Amino acid sequence: MKIGIMGAMSEEIGPLLEKFTYKTVEYANNKYYLASYKEHELVIAYSKIGKVNATITACVLIEHFNCEMLLFSGVAGALNEAYEIKDILIGEDFLQHDVDITGFGHPFGFIPEGEIFTACDENLIKIAKTVAQENSLQIHNGRIATGDQFINDEAKKTWIREHFQADAVEMEGASVALTCQALKIPCLIIRTMSDKAGKEADMNFDEFILESAKISADFLYKIIDKL
Ligand code: SAH
Repeated sequence: MKIGIMGAMSEEIGPLLEKFTYKTVEYANNKYYLASYKEHELVIAYSKIGKVNATITACVLIEHFNCEMLLFSGVAGALNEAYEIKDILIGEDFLQHDVDITGFGHPFGFIPEGEIFTACDENLIKIAKTVAQENSLQIHNGRIATGDQFINDEAKKTWIREHFQADAVEMEGASVALTCQALKIPCLIIRTMSDKAGKEADMNFDEFILESAKISADFLYKIIDKL
């Protein structure tokens, strides 16, 4: 199978790239790393931060490189009080917390002709849960809020948590999930907590980005092994 693997930042795909020998292809202002693993062809890329960049990369992986499945590995800020930094979360469904056309009577996160929540592929989530069990990895399953903002503010964090019952916040997931839904490509998004989205989030992020990104990437590598 041809599998697209993406992160938002170089730190998020670095630990995966280390495991393969690859060829680099430049396309649409980005680099795509082509590798093979067992019977699979892999196309690996980091999109750069945010919903627009993530959408471009997800589209390129699917439409230009013909990937039949998309896997995302990265970090996020925890909203759920039960989550600790370095905990792994499998995103079950996603929303865009910064979509606001409430002036016309629509709820937050809603775009006409769409839905507030977008789910990832049930079968891939099941495989990820099995891999976690087999490796005695503690993981969470939950809801992820995406927006073009780094959340390091207690009030914003509380609002997103309470308004959407989201467990974590990041800047790409919902756009990748929506792209995959539109193009009918199964999608799995794994996020390891780098911070707790509150007032220390920027310092925590800098301290834990490498470690948390590697935890996600190592878990994703084990999942690829099962596909
Ligand atoms: N330090 C980086 C910016 C990181 S932005 C720089 O200066 O270039 C945060 C990235 O990690 C995004 O890709 C996002 O998906 C994820 N993330 C982690 N914690 C987050 C938080 N608290 N709020 C929003 N996104 C977060």
